[in-house]
Amino acid sequence: MTNDIRIALVAHDGKKDLLIDWARPHVEKLSKVHLLGTGTTGQRLNDELGLNVERMKSGPLGGDAQLGAMIAEGRLDGLIFFTDPLSALPHDVDVKSLLRLAVYYDTPLAMSPSTANSVLKDLLD
Ligand code: PGA
Repeated sequence: MTNDIRIALVAHDGKKDLLIDWARPHVEKLSKVHLLGTGTTGQRLNDELGLNVERMKSGPLGGDAQLGAMIAEGRLDGLIFFTDPLSALPHDVDVKSLLRLAVYYDTPLAMSPSTANSVLKDLLD
């Protein structure tokens, strides 16, 4: 059983379609773990792929900070975070904080489809 593995999924607006496209062929694997996500990302994954993502607040309203706190508490095993390098974000400080904590605590972190493949494989195989 792998449902004690906790993986968070987050995508900025310009990358949400990319995350959905990445997740689609991995639905079977993803449905075996405990998924978490920021509000809108999680909603889309649930609605469009039938996943069961535990939703935090939306990223700009504290969802990134909630996931960062989980990392600091050792409650997250992986973070798949598709940021949009071409958009300025009002919650940039939260994004930086989440990435900073993932690096500090050496949480497996993926920011693109190819690295997400690697993180998923590493955590599940
Ligand atoms: P959202 O948040 O999934 O609620 O859009 C993502 C983010 O902007 O960090």
